[in-house]
Amino acid sequence: MKNKPELLAPAGDLERLKIALLYGADAVYCGGPGFGLRANAVNFSFEELKEGIDFAHQLNKKVYVTINIVLHNKEAKELLPYLKKIESLHPDAIIVSDPYVIELALKETNLEVHLSTQQSTLNYESCDFFYHEGVKRIVLARECSKEDIAEIIRRVPIEIETFIHGAMCAAYSGRCVLSNFLTNRDANRGGCSQICRWDFKLLSDGQEVEAPKDFTLCSKDLSLLEYLPDMIDMGITSFKLEGRMRSIYYVATVVSVYRKVIDEYCNNPDSYEYNKEYERVLRRVANRDSVAQFFNGVNDERGSYYNGREELSNQDFLGLILDYDAQTHVATVEQRNYFKKGDVVEIFGPNHPVYTMTIDKIYDENNELIDVVRHPQQIVKLNVLAEVKRYDMIRFKIVDKQ
Ligand code: SF4
Repeated sequence: MKNKPELLAPAGDLERLKIALLYGADAVYCGGPGFGLRANAVNFSFEELKEGIDFAHQLNKKVYVTINIVLHNKEAKELLPYLKKIESLHPDAIIVSDPYVIELALKETNLEVHLSTQQSTLNYESCDFFYHEGVKRIVLARECSKEDIAEIIRRVPIEIETFIHGAMCAAYSGRCVLSNFLTNRDANRGGCSQICRWDFKLLSDGQEVEAPKDFTLCSKDLSLLEYLPDMIDMGITSFKLEGRMRSIYYVATVVSVYRKVIDEYCNNPDSYEYNKEYERVLRRVANRDSVAQFFNGVNDERGSYYNGREELSNQDFLGLILDYDAQTHVATVEQRNYFKKGDVVEIFGPNHPVYTMTIDKIYDENNELIDVVRHPQQIVKLNVLAEVKRYDMIRFKIVDKQ
């Protein structure tokens, strides 16, 4: 049995916070009403933050609040009351990047401070500096190799958090002004419009360069699933999943897979075997290919799509279970994608094996029999023989697309 690292998941709103924790995350990170990135995510109000933190603490889990924008003068003046308000909600830490936020939080509050990946920390001297400033944990830049991470852990007695899964930035995280120039949206203030993923024509001396496809700077995603045992042995404190803008289906699927791999390895390290089936499950919620990016010390063209790509769209997620009556075996379901009578589906949840069934009878809200469920968030009832629970999810049965 090995000590388990923390599994840290994104929470774009209260629903995703609950889903992430129920599906196996040990902690979540989320933004409050100010001073965070992801301006386009539905950030939490103070009331929602309080509810989310209380919910997590009841499960003996943690919530970290991001306060990591690039700070301007006006915001610096407004910071202390905001920090005090956040402190009163009792989160387990704040995630910050600006030195002034670090200094003020450590001087004027009892908040635990984690250094955001926005600081692009890649070396042990910087880690040592922040350690002596009083920072409890450093979220390393995604550009660290495993040797970099191991050396930092060896040299500096500070908690280390690393990204293990999710989207990459073509620049050091957020240190990019493409979005500002082309769409007037500031990547360092949560407004990134993902210009690097756009298609571009290449010009040379004003002439379009002939190419089979348009040019893009788009990075492939990161996935370190198969390296988790090595990373656990290295002594990394926390494994972070990217994606505060992602759906509840994405969060539930990715959290469950990483939860299983961490538990399987830590519970039985000697007999652990990597299960490629989990990659297949992860691919179902991906809209880009995934690679190990910088972890193996190689950063070449295999980490990006320079010659265009197709974003995969995903209609796997069919419905969310709202309620289940164990007497009648009837599940109340909220629709998320089109499905119909005769479809073979799987129901998955945090506390039971995946259950496969063929949809037979579907009843609408008036208890009328229907054949198809086509309306977004339509409420229907299905016969489900296995006992399922609120927050379980229905997806098409996995078929091998390799
Ligand atoms: S446009 Fe791309 S490279 Fe620039 S900050 Fe956004 S994700 Fe990163």
